[in-house]
Amino acid sequence: MSFWNKDLLRLAITILIAAIASSFIGHFLYLLLIICIGLILRQAFLLNQLEDWLRSGAKSNYPSSSGLWEEIYYHIFRLKKAAKKRKKKLSLIIEQFRRSTSALPDAIVVIGEHDEISWFNNAAKEILGLKKKDKGQRLPNLIRAPAFVEFLSKKDPGIVLSIKAPVNGQVTLQLKIVTYDQNAHLLVAHDVTFLKNIERMRKDFVDNISHELRTPLTVLKGYIETLDDMGEDHSPLLTHSLQQMHNQTLRMQHLVDDLLLLANLETQKTENNCVVIDTLLKQICQESSALEQLNSRIELFIESDINIFGNDQELRSAFSNLIVNALKYSDEESIVTVQWYQSCDNVILSVADQGEGIPELEIPKITERFYRANAQRENEKHGTGLGLAIVKHALSRHDAQLKISSELGNGSCFSCIFPKRRFC
Ligand code: ADP
Repeated sequence: MSFWNKDLLRLAITILIAAIASSFIGHFLYLLLIICIGLILRQAFLLNQLEDWLRSGAKSNYPSSSGLWEEIYYHIFRLKKAAKKRKKKLSLIIEQFRRSTSALPDAIVVIGEHDEISWFNNAAKEILGLKKKDKGQRLPNLIRAPAFVEFLSKKDPGIVLSIKAPVNGQVTLQLKIVTYDQNAHLLVAHDVTFLKNIERMRKDFVDNISHELRTPLTVLKGYIETLDDMGEDHSPLLTHSLQQMHNQTLRMQHLVDDLLLLANLETQKTENNCVVIDTLLKQICQESSALEQLNSRIELFIESDINIFGNDQELRSAFSNLIVNALKYSDEESIVTVQWYQSCDNVILSVADQGEGIPELEIPKITERFYRANAQRENEKHGTGLGLAIVKHALSRHDAQLKISSELGNGSCFSCIFPKRRFC
């Protein structure tokens, strides 16, 4: 029998006893009234007892009672016990999380809506120099580097910022913002000093070796040319060998030149001024056509008179690489279209050819150093695999993007997109 039914039964028995008693002494209604008042007083007492128990935190065992009240106490007690267990489990998880984030080598800072510091791990103390008392302070007040302040104001998860560590100028940090709630962000700082050093060593090595190779190559090429000039009575084998040696030396010279150009693009600061695009493109198209011994393949359309604030040499090598590629990777009769035009807030140079195109999967890779799509075909066409890497670097130094679209069998289109802030 349920507790509710038991309570009802008890009430019914009390009323029955009152009815029997009233058959002897009368005043049934008075007796009933006294019973009701008694019941109300009892319920008020039990409610008060419950309130006392809850106020004391419901920690001790619940007071003994009967019927429905006992059941209510039991349920509250059980809920309380389950909540306690859950809380313990949660605190354990939080503790584990704190311990693991403390052990992380990356600095992690939880920042609030107004860039105030809510929490940070141990690494943040070492890497970013944060102290316990900095909690609640605004991060831009502590790390004041303008690039960092701008980076923090943007809160763009796609941006990675490289800066020197505020506590040690020898350490390079890579910073990233992770948004985990509408107004809550994590700042993650990763020490990339080791990688930066390796990268610098690689650049220095490439730079040095390219410089060192230049002179022996020039000497070698000179001797080969002299031997070739002397060779009226050379055997066909020797003539062929000298020709091969000459071609390979030229190839190596191109490779060294491209490597040096790339190294300069990565390291050197250059002077910028207003580059007149119309003149530059006309020159490049003329030179490229002359190189190919074809005059009518390039169609040049200058549709905008906007010029670009940048470096003449870098833009020249980016544009000429694209135009030479378009000529190189398309049929000798097909047209290459070079167009300079404005679109919305950008000005674009597009170089479109009608060549055999690039497989879709290879498009993201062709701007990597030494990558040559369609290896078999490329063996027949000379190249270093560095041209597009140079284009990408030169463009990024002008805040411009390279967009590549290509369809197998229908040709490719390379677009250099310059933003408004570069117009002049
Ligand atoms: P390469 O010296 O080999 O031309 P690039 O870096 O200029 O080196 O180009 C990388 C690769 O991209 C090329 O080997 C070629 O496979 C592909 N590629 C570049 N431009 C074109 C183009 N206009 N049409 C088809 N493939 C191209």
